[in-house]
Amino acid sequence: MRVCVIGSGYVGLVAGACLAETGNDVCCADIDARKIDGLKQNVIPIFEPGLDALVERNQREGRLSFTTDIPGAISGAEVIFIAVGTPPGEDGSADLQHVLGVASVIGQSITREVIVVTKSTVPVGTAAKVAAAVGKNAKFPFHLCSNPEFLKEGAAVEDFLKPDRVVLGVESAEARRTMTELYSPFVRNGQPIILMDIASAEMTKYAANGMLATRISFMNEMANLCEKVGANVDAVRRGIGSDRRIGSSFLFPGPGYGGSCFPKDVKALVRTADGLGVPLDVLRGVESANERQKHVLVDKVRTALDGSVSGARVALWGLAFKPRTDDMREAPSLTVIEDLLAEGAVICAHDPVAMDQARSILGNRIEYAESNYDALQGAEVLVIVTDWHEYRHPDFERIKGALKRPVIVDGRNLYEMEKMKDVGLRYYSIGRQPV
Ligand code: NAD
Repeated sequence: MRVCVIGSGYVGLVAGACLAETGNDVCCADIDARKIDGLKQNVIPIFEPGLDALVERNQREGRLSFTTDIPGAISGAEVIFIAVGTPPGEDGSADLQHVLGVASVIGQSITREVIVVTKSTVPVGTAAKVAAAVGKNAKFPFHLCSNPEFLKEGAAVEDFLKPDRVVLGVESAEARRTMTELYSPFVRNGQPIILMDIASAEMTKYAANGMLATRISFMNEMANLCEKVGANVDAVRRGIGSDRRIGSSFLFPGPGYGGSCFPKDVKALVRTADGLGVPLDVLRGVESANERQKHVLVDKVRTALDGSVSGARVALWGLAFKPRTDDMREAPSLTVIEDLLAEGAVICAHDPVAMDQARSILGNRIEYAESNYDALQGAEVLVIVTDWHEYRHPDFERIKGALKRPVIVDGRNLYEMEKMKDVGLRYYSIGRQPV
């Protein structure tokens, strides 16, 4: 099939490369000329495991191309994906200007009957606006499809190639047929393609992210209570996760959720409901619990340093909002860093892949270390914010030797408490007693 993907970010680029991998003729378009120039040379603008090989191979074999000529990319395509950003507007609702701008260009540029697929996360009711924007100038029939994306950054290629399910909101037989065919190579192991109406598909994405964010905030609050009552949240997590009604994923406490999706989608869902007079008390609580949680690590640092971090040098491991990505959008590390800087600390940070992104946001307000051990030199305390694999089994004697005070504040519960006792490191974690 001839496919056009507009917006070559985390979602559009992965979708485009994976659709090319199954034999489609895919053109990825973006307004960012630097990004497109790089992609033509196989320079991948984001860190995403496996994506570089996929882009290189499909480009070399002629199934994948990149352009800034958006009307040109649309013209001739049978299926057109909209995968541009939907950042939060000032009131928290999703900003649709990019989506609707692209829809309008689609209307002007189609040269045949097409399927217009909204892959960006958009509030319920957006399809009607997309239809109006496309329809204003379209000289050919078009069919809408809402196809929310559930990939996880850090495992995006794997998630796209082997999705748990594909959700398709369609209202015509043509859209159903074409989209089912396009996705059939990805669901050969029997994962469902779930067909539904467009409003339900749009809602499914928000409900999924709302549920996942709820689990995180719930566990963070349980963790905070565990600390006060002398319990261990790891034991509680295992205890409840083995209940099949609950399940074991997304039960890890931490320094609050971040990233480009959960914070923005929870906010947007609450704003949508507000506008319709529907109270979403649970999600409001999820949001405020998350805001509070982003500050707990610095509370622990203060305690560890006898009440003040002023003038202290702090080593910080992990800047990205989660491991295996360089994405810093709404990363909890940013709140931790702002809190520490406001209280007069000096920070030396390390991240395996997100340091360039961090530099573009924080500049020289913090120091950046070549290796995680370099970050420790002369620091009073080590704070762990992101659970990168390479931080899981460090040389504790080396950490102890490098730190001025042997203290770790761990936002991800990476280490066994007994081990910390044995090596003689003071250890503060989330939802467990300090040792
Ligand atoms: P992104 O910021 O990485 O990429 C968006 C791209 O769109 C950018 O390259 C930008 O230059 C381009 N763009 C903006 N306006 C354009 C226009 N008018 N024409 C052409 N290109 C344009 O964003 P993302 O993380 O890929 O997210 C895209 C959408 O997918 C969002 O709605 C997001 O909520 C949703 N989503 C994201 C993820 C994720 O993990 N990142 C997962 C599921 C869904």
